[in-house]
Amino acid sequence: MSPTSYIAKQVADLKPSGIRRFFDLAAQMEDVISLGVGEPDFVTPWNFIEHSFHSLEQGYTSYTENAGMIELRQEISQFLKQNYHVTYNPEDQVIVTVGASQAIDLALRAIVNPGDEVIVVEPSFVAYTPTVTLAGGTPVTIQTRAEDDFKLQPEQLEEAITPNTKAIILCNPNNPTGTYLNKKELEPLAAVIEKHDLLVLSDEIYAKLTYDDDYTSFAALKSMQERTILISGFSKAFAMTGWRLGYAAGPAEIIAAMVKIHQYTMMCAPTMAQHAALEALKNGRQSVQDMMESYKQRRNFIVSSLNEIGLSCPNPGGAFYTFPSIQATGLTSGEFAEQLLEEEQVAVVPGDVFGENGEGYIRCSYATSLHQLDEAMERMERFVRKKM
Ligand code: PMP
Repeated sequence: MSPTSYIAKQVADLKPSGIRRFFDLAAQMEDVISLGVGEPDFVTPWNFIEHSFHSLEQGYTSYTENAGMIELRQEISQFLKQNYHVTYNPEDQVIVTVGASQAIDLALRAIVNPGDEVIVVEPSFVAYTPTVTLAGGTPVTIQTRAEDDFKLQPEQLEEAITPNTKAIILCNPNNPTGTYLNKKELEPLAAVIEKHDLLVLSDEIYAKLTYDDDYTSFAALKSMQERTILISGFSKAFAMTGWRLGYAAGPAEIIAAMVKIHQYTMMCAPTMAQHAALEALKNGRQSVQDMMESYKQRRNFIVSSLNEIGLSCPNPGGAFYTFPSIQATGLTSGEFAEQLLEEEQVAVVPGDVFGENGEGYIRCSYATSLHQLDEAMERMERFVRKKM
C-alpha cells in the first residue's frame, strides 16, 4: 500500500490553505514585500521576554496545571473583567491553550456531535471550516455582502439555521475583512442566537486592536455569557505569535470538557510562554497602546493609498487587515495576487481563499512598517495602472 492510502479520508479531503501557496511562492523570490502575513511585525516587548527568561532561571521548567497556571488564569479573568465587564471564575471558567487556534479546536471538539452543523461567517479565518470538519461537524457557511460592509445580518443568520445547528463562530473584528461589529450591531444577532438556543464561539483575538470605539465582547451582551465560549490570545495585540499562547473562557461545564481533551492531547500550554503572558497582562498595557497607535497610522495610510490607486477600500474598524476590491482591474483575485507577486514582488492574499464571497477582493495586512507600506503602495499603483 502507498503511504497516501493510509491517510484518513477526512484529512485527505481537506484543501491545503490557499495562503500557504503564496508564502511558498514568495519565499523563492527576492525583494518581496509581504502584505500577506497575519502577524505583527513587532518583536515581543522586552519585559515579557525577560520575565520568561527569569522563570527559566528560577527553574520553572515543568508542566503547569492542565488548565494553565492559576496566577495566569486569575490575570486573564481580571483582564476580561476590566476590559469587557465580563466575570469568569479563574478556577473553572478559564483554560490556557496553545494559541487561540487550540482553543477553537478544543471548543469544537468539546461540543460537536456527528451531524451537528456549525455556522461559519465568510469571508472568514481559514481555520474554522476545517476544524469544524475535523471535529466531525458540518460547516454551514453564510456569505456576508460587500454592500453590508461584510457585516453579518440577522436575517442571513436566521436563514442559515436548521434543526441541526448547534453553534456559530463569530470573529469580531474579523479576519480577513477588518470588519468590526459594535454593540448595536451585535444585539440583533444575539436575539436570533437566543431564539434558536445556539452556542457561540466568539473569536475575540483582535479585540484589543479595535479603532475608534469601545469594544463589546459577545459574552457581555444580555443573556449571552452562558452560551458564549470567548476565545482570545496573546498572538496579535501583544505581538506574541511564536509563543503559542491563547485562552478560552466560558461556562464551567464546557471549559471542563475542553480541559478533558487538553489533558490527554496537550497536557498544558508551554510554561515559559505562560510566564511571559503573565507579564504581558500585568505590565503590557503601554506596549499594546504604542503598537496600536502605530497600526492606526498605517491603517490610515494604506486605506487612503488603496483608494487613490483605484482599489476601493472601506476603513476597517479593527485587526490589521484591509480588504480592497480589485474588481476594477477585471482580474480574479487569484490572478491579481499571482501577477502582482511576479511583476512587482508584492505578496497579498487572494480573497477567495477566505470564502466564495472573497472573490474580487484581496487581503493586505498592514502589520508592516510605514516605509515598507509606502514602497508596496508605489509598486501596486504601477501594477494597477498597467492592468486598468
Ligand atoms: N483567530 C483568528 C481570527 C486569527 O486570525 C488567528 C491567527 N491568524 C487565530 C485565531 C489564531 O491565533 P493563535 O496564534 O493565537 O493561534
